[in-house]
Amino acid sequence: MRITKVVITIYALLFALLGVGFWVAPELLAARFNIVALGVPGFSTLRGDMGGMFFALSALCLVGLWTGRRAPLMAAALALSAVIVGRLLGWAVTGSPAGLAANLPIEIGAVVVLALHVRGQKDPPAEPVPTGRIARNAAIWAGGAAAVAAVMALALHSPAIQDRMFAAFVRQNVGRDNSALLGDDALRVATCGTSAPLPSLARAKACVAVMAGGKIYIVDSGPESTKNLMLWGLPLDRVAGVMITHFHSDHIGDLGELNLQTWVPGRPAPLAVYGGPGIEQVVAGFNEAYTLDEGYRTAHHTAELMPPATAQMIAHTVTMPEVPGPGGVRSTVVLDDGSMKVTAIETNHAPARPAYAYRFDFKGRSAVITGDTTNYAPLAVASSGTDILVSEALNREMIRTLEQSAREKNRPRVAHIMRDIQSYHISPTEAADMANKAGARLLVLYHLLPAPDNGIAKEIFARGLDSARHGGKWDLADDGSLYTLPVGSTAFEIGRVPQ
Ligand SMILES: [Zn+2]
Ligand SMILES: [Zn+2]
Repeated sequence: MRITKVVITIYALLFALLGVGFWVAPELLAARFNIVALGVPGFSTLRGDMGGMFFALSALCLVGLWTGRRAPLMAAALALSAVIVGRLLGWAVTGSPAGLAANLPIEIGAVVVLALHVRGQKDPPAEPVPTGRIARNAAIWAGGAAAVAAVMALALHSPAIQDRMFAAFVRQNVGRDNSALLGDDALRVATCGTSAPLPSLARAKACVAVMAGGKIYIVDSGPESTKNLMLWGLPLDRVAGVMITHFHSDHIGDLGELNLQTWVPGRPAPLAVYGGPGIEQVVAGFNEAYTLDEGYRTAHHTAELMPPATAQMIAHTVTMPEVPGPGGVRSTVVLDDGSMKVTAIETNHAPARPAYAYRFDFKGRSAVITGDTTNYAPLAVASSGTDILVSEALNREMIRTLEQSAREKNRPRVAHIMRDIQSYHISPTEAADMANKAGARLLVLYHLLPAPDNGIAKEIFARGLDSARHGGKWDLADDGSLYTLPVGSTAFEIGRVPQ
């Protein structure tokens, strides 16, 4: 038996298995292929299109082998080539090779094996395979596949098997530990929220986690961002401080949840919340709102497990010096524990005052998180020499399109707001200019207005960044983007928080 025949048989079985998988449990297979289905219509598409495609591939391979004819194998190779072209097209359009490493080698391997097999084979014209035999084999194959699908569907509805699957899932996810991200070996910056007030299905609102020296610092606590931090499996009891840039809702909305979700895992001290004058009011409000909840939890789980002494946040008001320093910079050191120094820097987000950026310096590596600001010259001065400038960004052309559209749809309030917000944010190319002036090695854009949630929108959002950065690096952050700055080096790595 030729080796290619064996390999094609294995591929055919794999395709059949994937086909059955998409028919029976599209949720599980979709996750493996990084697909999110939108409700029942989405699952119908997965069952129909994905399940059908894999079955068709399996059928073509098996019919080709049974009949000894080349046409079905060539059709399978052609279909897989189209899949490969689609993947490469995705790479070209998005600029990201994500998803290629896991699938492309398997697909290319299949095309190569099919091509090799077809090359070494001749069609048997003298003895054509009877149509009846093809039909019989196809019926056997389809019947077998349907039987397997039925057995699997029944099995997945068996309580015993469901319980085992759930237990396996729980074992995999409970106790997941990403505490290595807090190591002394690097300054790490992860984006726990990358959108602004406009809603996005894929992004929480403003939040950046800075990790080093066994501690986590959170810059802003935008709505939905605590969920990200919890899903990442970080040791949230080690959140040592929250730095609030300003008091717009997209920067403070999750503060109550962040406090609760760091208290429940056993944070040893009250959560310190830093911010400009006004932070006392914000913190007092959240503390008040959560007082009843904290009481219930202490009563239910004991005061030893849920100590009231660490339940309520403590506000630390950060005031700026009256007289600005060189370059018009107004800044002040918020904390310095010998290895980590955090400095608040005044920005310009008028009429929202005070508005601060925060600079983190750890063992020779540094990151500046801007919060909301215009292209403000003193901020570039205060960011001088930083490794990463994590800057908010508003794409004015895209917001103008929203404004225009709101006007056309007779939504004057929305149009008015879309016009107003253009004045107190920084654009991507202005952020590039600021990063250049600061000499930042990497510019990261977050707090994206509007949130670009597909490849085309990302490309529009980042238009002009390459030339504005003059060859300097930049990245458009997603929720879960991770930037690692190893200590004792000038390098940086762009990755994802391990899930
Ligand atoms: Zn904002
Ligand atoms: Zn703001």
